[in-house]
Amino acid sequence: MKRIAILGSTGSIGTQALEVVAANPALFQVEVLSAHRNSALLIEQARKFKPNAVVVTDESRYKEVKDALMMLPIKVFAGERSLDDVVQWESVDVVLGAIVGFAGLNSTLAAVDAGKTVALANKETLVVAGELVMRRAAAKNAAIIPVDSEHSAIFQCLVGEDTTAVEKVILTASGGPFLGRKPNYLVNVKASHALQHPNWSMGAKISIDSATLMNKGLEMIEAKWLFGLRDEQIDVIVHPQSIIHSMVQFTDGSVKSQMGLPDMKLPIQYALGFPQRIANNYKRVDFREHSKLTFELPDLKTFRNLAIAKEAMIRGGNAPCVLNAANEVLVHAFLQNKVGFMEMSDMIEKTLESVPFIANPEMDDHRKSDAEAREYALEYAKKSQLSMY
Ligand code: NDP
Ligand code: MG
Repeated sequence: MKRIAILGSTGSIGTQALEVVAANPALFQVEVLSAHRNSALLIEQARKFKPNAVVVTDESRYKEVKDALMMLPIKVFAGERSLDDVVQWESVDVVLGAIVGFAGLNSTLAAVDAGKTVALANKETLVVAGELVMRRAAAKNAAIIPVDSEHSAIFQCLVGEDTTAVEKVILTASGGPFLGRKPNYLVNVKASHALQHPNWSMGAKISIDSATLMNKGLEMIEAKWLFGLRDEQIDVIVHPQSIIHSMVQFTDGSVKSQMGLPDMKLPIQYALGFPQRIANNYKRVDFREHSKLTFELPDLKTFRNLAIAKEAMIRGGNAPCVLNAANEVLVHAFLQNKVGFMEMSDMIEKTLESVPFIANPEMDDHRKSDAEAREYALEYAKKSQLSMY
């Protein structure tokens, strides 16, 4: 029986993780749940799963949650700091990091510092501070098991392999809802349009990242740190069917891939169950229905975010942290129709030019770079053609 802390339990990954837990009561028990603003869903989840504790990070929701759970033996905490405490509890075996964005970094680090196994969905944590997180995980012997489907695929391909025999990894990208579209079309697209992903149903932020291909850029950086790769060992190929979740090419020319239907419950349950594979009765791939698996190069001229992210990865230092912060601000603005789809890349690029470069950032430098980048990105957003500020 593994006792799990689910951080971000009200999100797309969090709710699917709870489905996995509910389907496997003999394997998993919920120890902690956390939400930010969605107190109603958190209360409902707490009543159903009876965790030892819940954390509501937006403190204004504390009273509502506390009152609703008063009659139950469930501890209620508020504020981001509480997350750092609960993930370190003796009673927690696995921490599922499913908070979105930079906001997930502190709690992931706290879990790593306590030597916990971390099932990590929150890719931004590794984008911002991958070197630092992996260094501290190694020092504390904390395992980080990826939840992101591409990285889960690579992880699964590497089981039983000598990692020095890895030549490169090939991340597959669905191409998102605007695959094949050109700038003259994309200048006019709105958030509602970009939120319609063809293969995956996800939270708002990652849905926009998928539409701009920033998601794949973030995933390149995530792969670099998770698997200790050099920049040139990470390739991206567009594979619109999303059946092959990623591949590893070895030094003998062999390529291994992991396939399956696009369903995040699979990588979630793999990460929570590792090293055990958990049987389920989800729909299987029927290759007669998927008789064509196709591959093409990403259009870096149209979807510039992927090229910008790759450049930030190669530059290193605080560049990925700045990239991430600018992207978070601009995606937020785009979701509110305050900046245009094509403008986001220019504004991210300008933010990268504006924030001073730091070659070997520590945690304080990341916090500072993150804050500075947010200020610049917001300034650029205010100059948008849509200019709604
Ligand atoms: P959602 O937006 O659906 O959920 C985000 C979760 O984080 C919610 O529980 C939300 O709480 C909580 N949250 C938001 N802001 C804060 C904050 N400031 N402090 C603490 N908690 C906060 O996101 P997803 O589930 O889609 O994504 C989560 C992470 O997983 C992201 O990093 C994403 O890139 C990654 N991922 C997601 C995939 C997917 O299919 N969805 C696939 C691969 C990776 P509340 O709702 O209560 O406000
Ligand atoms: Mg992914």
